[in-house]
Amino acid sequence: MSKLPAADTLAASIDYTPPRKPWMEVPAEFRPGVYSYPANPKNLKILDFPNPRQWAPEDDDWKLPENWQEIIYEGFKERLHKYRSLKVFMDVCVRCGACADKCHYFIGSGDPKNMPVLRAELLRSVYRRDFTMAGKILKSLSGSRELTEDVIKEWFMYFYQCSECRRCSLFCPYGIDTAEITMMGRELLNLLGLNINWVMEPVANCFRVGNHLGIPPHTFKDIVDFMCEDIEDITGVKIDPPINKKGAEILFVTPSGDYFADPGTYTFMGYLMLFHELGLDYTMSAYASEGGNFGLFTSAEAMKRLNAKIYAEAKRLGVKWILGGECGHMWRVINQYMDTMNGPADFLDVPRNPLTGTVFSNARSTKMVHITEFTADLIKNKVLNLDPSRNDNLNVTYHDSCNPSRAMGLLEEPRYVIKNVCNNFYEMPEQTIREQTFCCGSGSGLNNEEFMEMRMRGGMPRANAVKHVQEQYGVNMLSCICAIDRAALPPLMEYWVPGVDVTGVHELVANALVMRGEKERETDLRGEPLPGKEG
Ligand code: SF4
Ligand code: SF4
Repeated sequence: MSKLPAADTLAASIDYTPPRKPWMEVPAEFRPGVYSYPANPKNLKILDFPNPRQWAPEDDDWKLPENWQEIIYEGFKERLHKYRSLKVFMDVCVRCGACADKCHYFIGSGDPKNMPVLRAELLRSVYRRDFTMAGKILKSLSGSRELTEDVIKEWFMYFYQCSECRRCSLFCPYGIDTAEITMMGRELLNLLGLNINWVMEPVANCFRVGNHLGIPPHTFKDIVDFMCEDIEDITGVKIDPPINKKGAEILFVTPSGDYFADPGTYTFMGYLMLFHELGLDYTMSAYASEGGNFGLFTSAEAMKRLNAKIYAEAKRLGVKWILGGECGHMWRVINQYMDTMNGPADFLDVPRNPLTGTVFSNARSTKMVHITEFTADLIKNKVLNLDPSRNDNLNVTYHDSCNPSRAMGLLEEPRYVIKNVCNNFYEMPEQTIREQTFCCGSGSGLNNEEFMEMRMRGGMPRANAVKHVQEQYGVNMLSCICAIDRAALPPLMEYWVPGVDVTGVHELVANALVMRGEKERETDLRGEPLPGKEG
């Protein structure tokens, strides 16, 4: 890993002056801090992906298959035929530039190839040569180019410098979704065995064991038990959450980040406390022990395989519907792709909140409800006994995690929940939240150590907005509903906005939740004294 420069040095290094040479003549520069390590061959073998081997981006020879150009040509042709959207996205860009300054990686790096329009052009230039008449006749005059190894290296660099956040697509008057272009670019790279480990290892683990981290069922159970001990210490309430219980009404699925590392663990404790308090008839699954779907960052086929296990477990356990935790890409996959991949889930019921009777007709097809919708409904129907003053030590802001906000429009429910469990809530500037939210800079499998410089660059716009509310209102807590955010935002805050911590929404809920039979609470879930209990 490269040494990260001081924050002000990094900020001062951003240069928006375009290079003197035309963009096609500027080669990708692989230096530590701006690229992710290749996939370990063992992970590719587990998944039966092509060309598993040891290689490094800084090597001259990437050990491509002999017929690599033919593989790309055929792969591209197949996808143009299969996905009408790809063909449209390749053809309709008018280079208006509306997307150019909307990508956080461009803002943080100044590299023109991180402009969404140019990122797409990396693929489009090859498309034009091979698949359009103008390209065949006019050659480079049409903006087309030969597919060389340098082009492949450039694809690897820039399709793995896109977090597939879709912020750019919001501003495109033609509806071009550059994240989908990145997904196709990554699919083509995968055909040559050009993948990154931080994507392929989670996919392989999830496929083999059930979750990204490869945590086996007995360890999952141990972790849950350990959390229950902490909950009992703090609240005096004993909890025994069901795992693999057949015939429960609800299957609860959450990202593994929530039970693997702080601060996600506090969010997970929050879910357990809420369900216990409600007396909910639910179960978790030790196999579908992962909500996150890194297949989204790999290939449509991998995404489909991973999504299927949630529904297979719902069927095996005989539940009626699925409740999902605070996760980013789980919800993008469920809302944008599930129905055409593995759905509709006709064997399940339309979800109905057993406490309030509310029918979640928005989940009629997927049969899966987001936990903030569920909790907002409980609050609206006055089911919960809440004491928001227990969070009075916090001045909270909210980061709309890219996938739930842009993919499923989940904008109001998390805010409604937070405002009911916290007295001090402050919004970041309008252009940086809701649909326009800025990415954490570490999504789509880029949340790795070796990519840290680019993560800090890409996360800078998000951090700047947090800094604004820190200075204006004394914000000291950044809440979110995504496990990647809960992992990615703490180092980002530490680097750009020291003094701001990160939390999931259900940690805040659990702190405010007055449970039946609880003892007088002295601390919050982190073991910090509650307001008024400092002495
Ligand atoms: S999807 Fe996000 S990361 Fe990718 S080009 Fe668009 S704004 Fe940038
Ligand atoms: S906003 Fe859309 S049409 Fe305009 S340059 Fe970007 S991708 Fe092309």
